[in-house]
Amino acid sequence: MTEETQNPQKSEGSPSSAANPPPGGEVFAFQAEMRQLLSIIIHSLYSEREVFLRELISNASDAINKLKFTLLTNQAVRDKDAPLEITLEVDPEGKTITISDTGVGMTKDELIANLGTIAKSGTLDFVKRLAESGQESRQELIGQFGVGFYAVFMVADRVVVDSCPADPAQPAFSWTSDGGGSYSLAPSQRTRRGTSIRVELREDALEFNHGHRLETIVKKYSSFIPHPVRMEGRQLNSQEAIWASPKEEVKEEQYNEFFKFITHGFEPPAHTLHISIDAPVQYRALLFVPGHLDNEVLYSREYTGLHLYANKVFIQADNRELLPVYLRFLRGVVDSEDIPLNVSRQTAQQGAVVAKIQTSLTGRVLRELKSLAEADGPAYNKLWAEYGRVMKEGIATDLPNRDKLMELLRFGTSAAGDKELITLKDYLGRMTPDQKEIFYLTGPARAELEANPSLEYFKSKGLEVLFLYDQVDDFVMTSLGEYEGKKFASIDQADLDVLKGDEAAKKPPENTPAMDSLLAYLKEALAGHVADVVASRRLVESPAVLVNPDGVTANMEKMMRLMDTHYRPAQKVLEINPANPLVAAMAAMVQTDTKEPLLKELALQLLENCLLVEGLLEKPGAMVHRVQSLMTQAAQMRAAQMGGAKPKTASKTARAETPDTPAKTPAEKKSAKPGKKG
Ligand code: ADP
Ligand code: MG
Repeated sequence: MTEETQNPQKSEGSPSSAANPPPGGEVFAFQAEMRQLLSIIIHSLYSEREVFLRELISNASDAINKLKFTLLTNQAVRDKDAPLEITLEVDPEGKTITISDTGVGMTKDELIANLGTIAKSGTLDFVKRLAESGQESRQELIGQFGVGFYAVFMVADRVVVDSCPADPAQPAFSWTSDGGGSYSLAPSQRTRRGTSIRVELREDALEFNHGHRLETIVKKYSSFIPHPVRMEGRQLNSQEAIWASPKEEVKEEQYNEFFKFITHGFEPPAHTLHISIDAPVQYRALLFVPGHLDNEVLYSREYTGLHLYANKVFIQADNRELLPVYLRFLRGVVDSEDIPLNVSRQTAQQGAVVAKIQTSLTGRVLRELKSLAEADGPAYNKLWAEYGRVMKEGIATDLPNRDKLMELLRFGTSAAGDKELITLKDYLGRMTPDQKEIFYLTGPARAELEANPSLEYFKSKGLEVLFLYDQVDDFVMTSLGEYEGKKFASIDQADLDVLKGDEAAKKPPENTPAMDSLLAYLKEALAGHVADVVASRRLVESPAVLVNPDGVTANMEKMMRLMDTHYRPAQKVLEINPANPLVAAMAAMVQTDTKEPLLKELALQLLENCLLVEGLLEKPGAMVHRVQSLMTQAAQMRAAQMGGAKPKTASKTARAETPDTPAKTPAEKKSAKPGKKG
């Protein structure tokens, strides 16, 4: 150690107490890099200066941990029975705060080595970069790097470290510095084991000269420090870092309390995942599945995220990088020893560790969910009902985990009641011998899907159809592609392989001249509304159904319309059922007289009925008029058959010819001949 009396870096101009050491004291110059570092810290207006306290408390806690270790090794220790604790004192008059611990303390040599030199090679690099950078980027750099103990010079004019080592043979020493070019060391009168750090606050840092301000900072960063932090006899940190305990030692009660603490809520969690991993990255995670999905979580990018700790020291709230977005409903904490304890929130180093944790944690969470599903099906189904729509996003976004996610999917099904959910595996096990595809249908709710005419064929053949009710489902199913070599097929698509291959599904009157004429008539009558009209093989009872030639399902179309009011979907194909009595009657009418006005009304109504079923009818007004016109004709016809008096005037309310464009109704034109039969 070279003694030095001139301090070339001392820039503050004030007489330094370090330069005038106490009796018996010595003055030491800081390393050149250290001087640079301190000068930059002192002159930067770092916005998160409060972290200095976090750094000092973490060091105190580390020192107590080291002392505990020393006790284990049975060495002679000063003050063997002194309580292991950290104490804060504020002296508002003196404008000082003191952080004391009963930890391992530092010898004279340790004070020199730990507080006088830059030992860590990373820090040296950092200082070099700092020195080379401009004033603005310095701010950022400081934020990116943990400066540990030296952070105290962001708020201090002078710091006095008084330390009495645990080793009874080593005397106590006092270290003093104003953060300039030097520090001084002098023998100390202290006899109690441990370290006290007296911080003489800068004029611009007097905000920290208040007990309640310090208390807030302790609660924010140091709640889970494993030793008591006291101020005026009160313990400020009450929480136990239960995530660091072995699973077997934590009671459900404690998990629930902790969940309430982090959510500021009253409900216990639905599930708790307590995870401990050592490689390739060390972390412990305590994650909770809340009882219910918040809209905030479903729709907002500002969802809560997880809290990040480094060895029980709080680093960051609401970190959204620790889990993929589709697991955003989970709450809790992740604690990693591999996270550097830095002044600022975001650093490249931290980012790399967090990315590793995300990969590991995601795999682990999916595995835990699978175990839950195996151990307690109903509980998992409940979780799925709540969070499935969020988890499904992972199918499209997390390719490496897609197989795991596929196993976690649950579906409603045409084959079971409302409550039953099945897996893809279940579905495969129930497929008919020559079934080649996995059929599904999307829509708002079970009742709507049950009413969809497309389903009739599948029901009649005993083919199971998956029912999906979420907005994202179309995109999810499209990106699923296939499962175990079976393709997914939406049953409202125009060219379904299963139908093409089924000769038996041809309807008996399919290729008659009457049916051909009806198809030709409908193509003309509905031109501009549908792309084509064909005889259906999928319909058993219903007269007609609209199917999609372009792979866009009705549900998808609704979503597109919501997002883009100008969205115009490709025209659909109208399939009609030759075996249906209405269709048969229309075919007969076409054979007799294609000019019959009732035919046009029936054609349009047939189309709009299909749109209505799918929830795609845009303007129901015209349809209501047309239905009333048809009702009028039916009523007049029936009245005439029943021999009652002929009504004098026709309805004036019935007015609809084409969808969405009211026109003169046939009922008005031909009210004189209500008895005409098709
Ligand atoms: P880090 O904590 O990352 O090692 P710091 O700059 O915070 O870096 O502290 C430097 C070193 O000073 C510590 O490693 C420790 O050896 C020593 N030290 C700091 N504070 C104390 C304390 N209260 N008691 C004992 N040793 C301490
Ligand atoms: Mg430290």
